[in-house]
Amino acid sequence: MKINKTQWLMSLVISGLLVTACQQQSTKPKLNDENPAAPINNAVIQKSPNDDRTYAAILLPNKLQVVLVSDPTLENSAASLAVGVGSAQDPISQPGLAHYLEHMLFLGTKKYPIPDNFFEFVQTSAGSTNAFTAYDKTNFLFQINAAKFDEALDRYSDYFKAPLLDPQYADKERNAVNSEWSMNKSQDNWIIHTLDGVTGNPANPLSRFSIGNLETLVDKNDSKLQDEVKSFYNRYYSANNMRLTLVGKQTIPELKALAEKYFADIPNKNVVRPKVDVPGLTQAQLGKSIHYQPQKDLKQLYIDFPIKDDKAFWRVKPNEFVTSLIGSEEEGTLCEQLRKAGLTNNVMASVSSDEYGIDGYLRIQADLTDAGLKNPDRVIASVFAYVELVKKQGLNDIYFRELKAMRAKDFANESKTDPLQQAISITNKQFDYPVENLLNSDFVYDHFDAPAIQSVLDQLNTNNARIWYINKNEVVDKAIQHFDGKYSIRDIKPEERARWSELGNKLVFNLPPENTLFTDKPAAIVQNQFIKPHQVVSEKGVEAFLTQPEFYREDKGELSVEVNVDFAKKSPKNIVLYTLLSDITRQKSTTLIDRAERASLGVKISPSNTGSQSFHISGYTTKHEELLQSVLNNFANLTVEKNDFADAIDKYKRAIANNKKAIPVRQGFANMSRLLGESHWTDAELLAAAEKVTLKDVIDYHKAVKANPLIRIYAFGNYTDATVARLAQISAQALPGKRLPSQRKVAQYIVPKQGQKITFKDVVEQADNAVIQGYWADKKSDDEQAQLVVLNALFGNVFFSQLRTNEQLGYIVGSAPYTIDDYPGFAIYVQSTNTELGKVKARMDKFRVEFFEQLKAIDPAQIEQFKNSEAASVLQKPTDFYKEADRYEGDFWAAHYDFTARDRYLASLAKVNKENLIALYQKLLLDEKGLSLLVQLKGAGFKE
Ligand SMILES: [Zn+2]
Repeated sequence: MKINKTQWLMSLVISGLLVTACQQQSTKPKLNDENPAAPINNAVIQKSPNDDRTYAAILLPNKLQVVLVSDPTLENSAASLAVGVGSAQDPISQPGLAHYLEHMLFLGTKKYPIPDNFFEFVQTSAGSTNAFTAYDKTNFLFQINAAKFDEALDRYSDYFKAPLLDPQYADKERNAVNSEWSMNKSQDNWIIHTLDGVTGNPANPLSRFSIGNLETLVDKNDSKLQDEVKSFYNRYYSANNMRLTLVGKQTIPELKALAEKYFADIPNKNVVRPKVDVPGLTQAQLGKSIHYQPQKDLKQLYIDFPIKDDKAFWRVKPNEFVTSLIGSEEEGTLCEQLRKAGLTNNVMASVSSDEYGIDGYLRIQADLTDAGLKNPDRVIASVFAYVELVKKQGLNDIYFRELKAMRAKDFANESKTDPLQQAISITNKQFDYPVENLLNSDFVYDHFDAPAIQSVLDQLNTNNARIWYINKNEVVDKAIQHFDGKYSIRDIKPEERARWSELGNKLVFNLPPENTLFTDKPAAIVQNQFIKPHQVVSEKGVEAFLTQPEFYREDKGELSVEVNVDFAKKSPKNIVLYTLLSDITRQKSTTLIDRAERASLGVKISPSNTGSQSFHISGYTTKHEELLQSVLNNFANLTVEKNDFADAIDKYKRAIANNKKAIPVRQGFANMSRLLGESHWTDAELLAAAEKVTLKDVIDYHKAVKANPLIRIYAFGNYTDATVARLAQISAQALPGKRLPSQRKVAQYIVPKQGQKITFKDVVEQADNAVIQGYWADKKSDDEQAQLVVLNALFGNVFFSQLRTNEQLGYIVGSAPYTIDDYPGFAIYVQSTNTELGKVKARMDKFRVEFFEQLKAIDPAQIEQFKNSEAASVLQKPTDFYKEADRYEGDFWAAHYDFTARDRYLASLAKVNKENLIALYQKLLLDEKGLSLLVQLKGAGFKE
């Protein structure tokens, strides 16, 4: 399959539930000339006809380039400012300095000296803020209710004018950075990224440590940390080396006035944006085999072809052309043949041409089966042989025309994005693209540029390839400084090359045919009669609901189909079986999924929250009937062979084992969710069940699912009643059943009881401790659910500032409302590097008591303010089609067919006041009148 690098980056981001003040991000974006295109004030930013936002670009007198985005329908406004400097510029004496400075900026400015003050300000206004440090830029961002934007910008812009960088907080923040490092140092994605640098040219900055920790961020004889921080700031934080984006409901002149008011006085030091001009891969690093023993049980093989950065060719996209051909899953292609031969579960091709700055690689990544692990030569030979075929026959403009047509259609139908995401994306792009193309740069396929493509193909030289063997059996001898795990590296031997070439000569591949799922024929836009969910079919074996868009009447649809059964979570054995069945179904539908994706149609195949098999189709609606028919037929006629079973069970066991590698607080939440859900079995119990499961069990389970399912369909988008009725008929024919809609199975949870206590303790392999405490009321209540949302806004930032910023108890500190089946709940959590479990818990307990006093003293106006911001963001027009699609879906799956969840929430929110907050806090968090659940995980860094 083809992937793009943003997907890889996403894997580094901590889930939204865990509030962290920053992420040190290992991206490798771009170096470009620092001077923006001359007359940007008149630039016309090209946008999708589907996009009704207004755009403008200005260059402030201090040479700060700003993009303004106006959309009157937005309730939240967002800002993102990036500085064109990152970890690549860390002084050699202070590894991690750029990242550490990013943290220090949060700790007070001349006008607003209190540390974390901005964080608190934003959170109490239902907003959010964060920052990240990349290889070549550092991005600071926030989102807040529009009414607060002016005030927020005043605080935020002061970061870039007068940060205190107060040495009295230096140790606290060094600890925060150290905890962040401690959390990431055992994560394979970080380690592999580090190895890119470590095995590359030692003169390239990627070879150095970028996160920083207590050991690297210290005073040295000729390098005082605080002096270095100040000098780094003074040297690079200059208006002309920054890019800013403001997004909001304000008009363009209003946004322009805000930009001028707050950002025009950022000093311009006329700095030249630093560039990395040392290559990351020289002849000395090519033709290597790299061996890494991963922390998780991974079985992977990477084949990297070094290439030069070619971002300048973005208008013709040679890299995308090549990875698209290499990643095809059509019959006879590399990915399909390897999968069919049982050697791989998945193969992906991606490009990071500026991984090191001026160079990078095209990577083909194979997830191996056991057979593939035993026969890596065959996989490598296949990759080499297929790459040769692409070089010989791939330079064909029909592939280009297909990409161009598809991306043109995508741009024409482009959805508006969330304001914060858009601000971040535009800011990052401002460094690399002309202002005119900030929105369409990913969609432009100007012309078929054979020489540009040929130049990429020429660089796919098998003699230069770097081959990574990533699995538990690798023999390794070298430690990786600052990270867990070991690796080894050696030259590829001539006899290996001879073997691959001999094997490759016997292999036959072909390039993909034209895509049958792509159509540029648009579907008619339907009347939107049913903007609330409306039942179309309800009969034996099938029920279907349709909702049409109120706002985004476009040719898009989201279609969810569940093959509902009531026994999936009855036993650990069934849990294993439904997971295997779903995985095998997905695996056997790979060609179809990939073909659909290449026509911008999404197909997801996964178990639902009842453990039933579900199918999800999204995108342009013209082909949805055809696609649904195909996926359901694939499932109904699925044959499970011995090797399908062997691969699936191996993946299942490794996935369970890999749960232990997640950061402790994640593991804690997984345990909490297990204890609250219907399938309460531990990983050990599931593994024991998996040991006994056979191929026949899977086949029998599949038969049992087919014996009497109830099909549940939820369709949102450009469909009519008649279409949905047909979709229901197609489904019922493929998987006929007799169960009535009233017999549907919905997700179940435990019922919290008065005074109930559940505790769970375990040890984790990671260094850190984690404690999570949850509290649930023993009666369902809309009002209390709303109260806990408000409480969270008041509690969360005080909890964070006190335990994290002031006391440095842990890097991850936070709280979250946690409703189960309309029983109101609230969870608080801490992950600590430096404090024993008992003490962490005792501190959290004490804080609960302390906060009660603060709550009693709180200004009711603060509560009203949050309620208003929250209500406004719930009521705001969804930012795009897919956001609108979510509105009633939760009600549907819970079978709450009055579809009132949102209205009830808003009504309850309006009733929240100081008195009922105090009463609930007392009842739930102090007197613990309902269910209390405590999860404690002891880290390896601590004794009993
Ligand atoms: Zn950080």
